[in-house]
Amino acid sequence: MKDYAQPDAGGHFGTFGGRYVGETLIAALDELKTAWDSAKNDPAFLAEFHAMLRDYAGRPSPLDYAERLTKKVGGAKIYLKREDCNHTGAHKVNNVVGQGLLARRMGKCNLIAETGAGQHGVATATIAARFGMSCKVFMGAEDVRRQAPNVLRMKMLGAEVVSVTSGTSTLKDAMNEAMRYWSAHCTDTYYVVGTAAGPDPYPEMVRDFQRVIGDEVRTQYAEKEGGLPDLLIACVGGGSNAIGLFYPFIGDASVGLLGAEAGGRGVATGKHAASITGQQLGILHGARTYLLQDPNGQVLEAWSVSAGLDYPGVGPEHAYLAEIGRAKYAAVTDREAIEAFQLICRLEGIIPALESSHAVALALKVAATMRPNQSVVVCLSGRGDKDIDHVNAWLAEHPDAVLA
Ligand SMILES: *Cc1c(COP(=O)(O)O)cnc(C)c1O
Repeated sequence: MKDYAQPDAGGHFGTFGGRYVGETLIAALDELKTAWDSAKNDPAFLAEFHAMLRDYAGRPSPLDYAERLTKKVGGAKIYLKREDCNHTGAHKVNNVVGQGLLARRMGKCNLIAETGAGQHGVATATIAARFGMSCKVFMGAEDVRRQAPNVLRMKMLGAEVVSVTSGTSTLKDAMNEAMRYWSAHCTDTYYVVGTAAGPDPYPEMVRDFQRVIGDEVRTQYAEKEGGLPDLLIACVGGGSNAIGLFYPFIGDASVGLLGAEAGGRGVATGKHAASITGQQLGILHGARTYLLQDPNGQVLEAWSVSAGLDYPGVGPEHAYLAEIGRAKYAAVTDREAIEAFQLICRLEGIIPALESSHAVALALKVAATMRPNQSVVVCLSGRGDKDIDHVNAWLAEHPDAVLA
């Protein structure tokens, strides 16, 4: 059997992950790792985490049988894990509740984060308000302009949004700036990473906070159908909702794991965010992984109709699962995602996030090739109210994609 007990003591998932950061951050990461190692084995900490997920975030989220979608596809049964029902409308709350509690345990009362689309910034601002902590969110100037509603949300929640103008003024530059700021302020500041990526111990820690998704699916599926689902599908930006769903099933060989990367306008056009599909190895956000880069090793901006899949790399555990073949990954184009978005609106009365629509699109394709006595669980990572103007504008430019 392949070794699924990752990472090793140094935070490596096979040859991926690790810590590629400046010397000042090593001490900060050591302090964090020590605190996390103690917290994750402390029943009181875990009880507080789960109580807050219940009372504040509204967990467990439902496992919902999509009957009309299933009939339309005519293959495997499609279940939706409804992370869109959580407080703040996505899975991101699971992670910020966990890291907020850890920051408090470590005595750090200032939170920082970086954000691209703004959703992780909003989640961090939310938890900072709840805990009475200060919050600074680094965001590329270009993203500040493009994501005005989320900038306003962060401000309403009491956070400061720091507009970053280096490089291309987008997410990768905000990530560099957040790391730089953290190096200088790590005694009183906690850096909340928003996905299962970054230097050790973040990928493992974020996974362990998000695994509540898969743990719940296991119980809920057994109650509804008995046994285990045949296939799990989730979209992959940095990979936190996907690893949260996959991880509890990793040792169950009968359960397939399938990640949907953002194929943008098509991988061949270069306008995409499909890091695993692209197979370019390098260092991003302090870890060795697949990332988007040009021939000179410069990090490229991710491209997708869905702003939340804009992470220019992928978490190291996904890189590892892809390499050993335990999970498969496929690129889904903007058009396929928007077609799936419209379909689930009409057939299930659910407006999904554009990110999640990538997972739904892949599910429609794959479920059609499966038998009616099989089941697919799709992670509906978030709700799509934030995306309706964008979808509307995209459809105005692509009238042939409008669902009749
Ligand atoms: C942020 C976000 C994602 C992508 O992040 P992962 O870390 O890959 O899960 C997906 N869906 C929604 C709704 C998001 O907000």
